[in-house]
Amino acid sequence: MTTIQDELRETARTLLAEGQVDCVLGWAWEEELQRAVPCFVRAAEDAKRLIWDERCVVSLAPFLLHMKRQLSSVRTEPSRTAIVVKGCDARGVVRILRDQQLERDEVLIIGVVCQGVGDPDNRPAKCRECQYHVPPVYDLLLGEEPKETQTPSSPLLERVREIEGWDVADRASYWREHFSRCLRCYACRQVCPACNCVECIFDSERTRWTYKRTTAEENMIFHAIRAFHVAGRCVECGECERACPMGIPLMEINKKVASDIKELFSVPDAGVDLREEPPLVRYETGDLDHFV
Ligand code: SF4
Ligand code: SF4
Ligand code: SF4
Repeated sequence: MTTIQDELRETARTLLAEGQVDCVLGWAWEEELQRAVPCFVRAAEDAKRLIWDERCVVSLAPFLLHMKRQLSSVRTEPSRTAIVVKGCDARGVVRILRDQQLERDEVLIIGVVCQGVGDPDNRPAKCRECQYHVPPVYDLLLGEEPKETQTPSSPLLERVREIEGWDVADRASYWREHFSRCLRCYACRQVCPACNCVECIFDSERTRWTYKRTTAEENMIFHAIRAFHVAGRCVECGECERACPMGIPLMEINKKVASDIKELFSVPDAGVDLREEPPLVRYETGDLDHFV
């Protein structure tokens, strides 16, 4: 039986052999680390290194951006990269394209139908409530589209509603406790397809109102600013929370903001349409302004 992995290797081999792309970004198994890692395949004969299965947890979307930025300083001719995406990763690629960090013709999107990653008995939360087993955007699709799809319930949204029900003091102490553990390692930012500024405000030497101290107060400013910067643009991929070494429940913040944005602006999920305009980056005279 031909598997999606077989199809992927053959597709990558053909794309490279025919010169349709310069590189295929997918996953390969790294024996030493015992995990699937991003793999940049540039020669057709290396396409056999690519894998596709439940071990392919990491989203490749941010790696696409980092690679293109690094190469842009040394390469002048146009290049095209194929990227392999699960549904959640495809939304990250849409984010990067809609934020005009890459041109559409620089990227060929190979979507894979995905039933979940990680341990089948303990899937990540995002897989348990996934609505995008088929990537919402792709150029080539590998795998069979499921005949029936059901909209799953969202335990994460239920958790957000629970926290909303707490009084202000309890919410403040809950987040203070979490943020006081934040190391400011910025892993959450580095893996985020929506955190794609060329220079992040938290790396800037010029600002006089954000600092790198890891006090609860400074960390709270970091997280508040990050939440607002990705508001309406976060694609809920869960990569920030997965990457956090301190187990801070960042998706509770992201889900809260995403659900408020959807309610206030009646918009679809972020990152599912290449024509989308995130509500906070456009201006309309009828915009809500009761908070001003
Ligand atoms: S969230 Fe959906 S698309 Fe993403 S890994 Fe889980 S099941 Fe696959
Ligand atoms: S879930 Fe986290 S990593 Fe993914 S887009 Fe939102 S803020 Fe970024
Ligand atoms: S990954 Fe976790 S510890 Fe590191 S900056 Fe982000 S929230 Fe803080």
